[in-house]
Amino acid sequence: MKKTKIVATLGLVSDSKEVLKALIENGMNVARLNFSHGSHEWHGNVIKIIRELSAEMNVSVGILADLQGPRIRTVVVEPVEISKGEVITISDVAKAPNFKFEILNLKSISNDEILNAKKILLDVSNIVDDVEVGNEILIEDGLMKVVVKEKNGGVLLCEVVDGGTVKNHKGVNIPDADLHIDPITEKDQQDLEFVLGQNVDFVAMSFVGSGANIEDLRGRMKKILGREDNLPQIIAKIERKEAIKNLDDILQHTDAVMVARGDLGIEIEGTMVAILQKEIVKKSLSAMKPVIVATQMLDSMIVNPRPTRAEVSDVTNAVVDHADAVMLSGESASGKYPIESVRAMKDIIENTEASPFDDVNYLLALNDSGDFKRVIGSAYELAKGSNAKAIVLGSASGFTARLFSHFRPDQPILVVTHNEKTYNQLSLVWGIQAKLYDKGGVFREDVDWLIEEAKKNGTLLSGDKIVLILGRTPDGEQMQLIGIKEI
Ligand code: PGA
Ligand code: MN
Repeated sequence: MKKTKIVATLGLVSDSKEVLKALIENGMNVARLNFSHGSHEWHGNVIKIIRELSAEMNVSVGILADLQGPRIRTVVVEPVEISKGEVITISDVAKAPNFKFEILNLKSISNDEILNAKKILLDVSNIVDDVEVGNEILIEDGLMKVVVKEKNGGVLLCEVVDGGTVKNHKGVNIPDADLHIDPITEKDQQDLEFVLGQNVDFVAMSFVGSGANIEDLRGRMKKILGREDNLPQIIAKIERKEAIKNLDDILQHTDAVMVARGDLGIEIEGTMVAILQKEIVKKSLSAMKPVIVATQMLDSMIVNPRPTRAEVSDVTNAVVDHADAVMLSGESASGKYPIESVRAMKDIIENTEASPFDDVNYLLALNDSGDFKRVIGSAYELAKGSNAKAIVLGSASGFTARLFSHFRPDQPILVVTHNEKTYNQLSLVWGIQAKLYDKGGVFREDVDWLIEEAKKNGTLLSGDKIVLILGRTPDGEQMQLIGIKEI
């Protein structure tokens, strides 16, 4: 069984029960629903199928709703060809009327030239106010680049650095601008209300800038749900310069992290992406927050049945970094080979985890030196020195399970929980195989049941040794009992 988890984005090529079943069988642990696309009806239907499959197949599958966030997009009536050195004008939907008037005061170019210059609109009202002369504007994943030369009223006069064809509704990044846009848009709020009604396990927040952004989202979730706990976990997508600057603050407030390399590679010098990935993963592990490495991991599999050597190497590298999960985007959502992509990812993970290179350079630094950590750490030492086949524990909130996972043990971590949210949320966490115990019961009944289940499905055999962590004594005292047991 692989330890590193797979998050697969779903789309039109992967929304049938048949394909979803194959994705789960081939190693998908978390299904990502991208709210940049698709109607609520489509998303609701996919959620229903996944919950059915999870119950039928008796495996935990997490559901992650990824909110679009304040993504700026182009508005053009028809594609606009722009070429290097050319001067074009950019405005936004609120300032569009200015195209005809205020622009006449610009100095470095004649009025006629300006009137004839190509025009591109941005779909966020008044965004132009936050853009300064000298800022770079990147269009469609950074494929095209222009630099702002003059600003007048609501119009930006820009020189093209990297040309191309600007199509409608393509993503725009303005990395150096101090943008005053709310990270939760009106659309996000509506999507949030919908996904909370669907009882999803994770909500990913795009373009996070600070810990305060995370708390804003959490506050909205509490308000919508009318409760303080059992909320979906928040995943902070690290994809802005601002987020790199405020990483420590974000890590304190978020539940989990995504290295969103697509936008990150645009907002920051692209050749720094692998280094930043290592830094973000390392800090997330120290903070005990599950971390996903995302975007373009097997990109060529959108059209080809096999990954490139460089892509194989990329997934291997993320596994060696000890990320909790690796992610597929277009590969599983809109490509020709969704099942093969998950399969390839699983094979790469298994080969890497079996190799000695997976064990180098892993530091156990943890930003928590409390007694509880030391108790679980000693259970890890026990497991390491023994020939135990698994670590077995019960966990209500998932905290003990995540803490044990932090040590990245050689053995699988078998977890029993009574809480359905915990059961689904542990799908994202490295090395954990969770089972849901819904029979009520008293002390140890759940753990004994879990061991029987593991014997039934072949994870454990009679006579195997396990490391057992028991969390609550029969009289209800909070105390961890640790031991080795032969089953
Ligand atoms: P996105 O996020 O696909 O929602 O943009 C991932 C990324 O930016 O890498
Ligand atoms: Mn992104």
